[in-house]
Amino acid sequence: MKQSAVVTGGASGIGMAIARRLLDDGWPVAIIDVDEQALMAAEEEFADDNAIFLQADVTDEDEMETAFDEIVDRLGLIGGLVNAAGISREAAAEDTSAELLRELLDVNLVGTFIASKAALERMGEGLSVVNVASVSGMRANRGHLAYGASKAGVKLMSEVLALELGNRGVRVNCVAPGPTETGESTAARRLWVGRVPQARYGEPEEIAAAVAFLLSPEASFVNGHTLAVDGGFLAAGVTAEV
Ligand code: NAD
Repeated sequence: MKQSAVVTGGASGIGMAIARRLLDDGWPVAIIDVDEQALMAAEEEFADDNAIFLQADVTDEDEMETAFDEIVDRLGLIGGLVNAAGISREAAAEDTSAELLRELLDVNLVGTFIASKAALERMGEGLSVVNVASVSGMRANRGHLAYGASKAGVKLMSEVLALELGNRGVRVNCVAPGPTETGESTAARRLWVGRVPQARYGEPEEIAAAVAFLLSPEASFVNGHTLAVDGGFLAAGVTAEV
């Protein structure tokens, strides 16, 4: 039986594009999301026998255990995990409460940890994990104290997992998207576009392509790496024309 891939946060946005791409690549895919309505809509849209849809909150260990057990029963042992579930909130440092910081760390960092452990305990012959981090976890962006800290944590945690599990058939990598079209327009959009050498937002499918590569055996010697998919954002210095 083929090994399965799990995509958390797969009912919308980048996670959904990743799930679609992995299905196209031939993976049986389990989509986990907390949003029941989005899950139902995704299930209708996908209409694919190789995809299953499960409602669970990545921060809830019991719900995740149950979801992963069901995935193994229905699709087989886990060969790939993509942690795309995440939330973002913009707030200046002085407006950031401990509660907000805890909330973002819980979903983005602890949720990624919980799903990774659940996958490790149910892995097949090998396991490839790709965590969706962010350029905001690699550069200081205004308003991204809590979000940036959570994503920097995801990057570092992935490196420790890659180090500790590398000799056990497990690879752990990250994709760090720059600003990506996910249907929401933000007031800060113009500012972001001005800092991206390619002068546009990325498409979810462009993030999915990088995830699919890192997840696949094509990336068999890539481990502990964070691949920025950001139109050159991290490479840029002064971007304004004189
Ligand atoms: P999105 O809101 O469209 O998708 C996130 C999904 O995660 C949603 O379906 C949501 O229901 C799910 N989710 C949230 N909390 C959850 C929880 N506790 N348990 C299970 N599922 C949960 O957002 P998106 O823009 O597609 O973001 C996907 C990932 O990409 C996130 O990790 C985000 O931080 C990251 N990212 C996005 C951008 C961007 O510009 N859109 C840039 C960098 C990184």
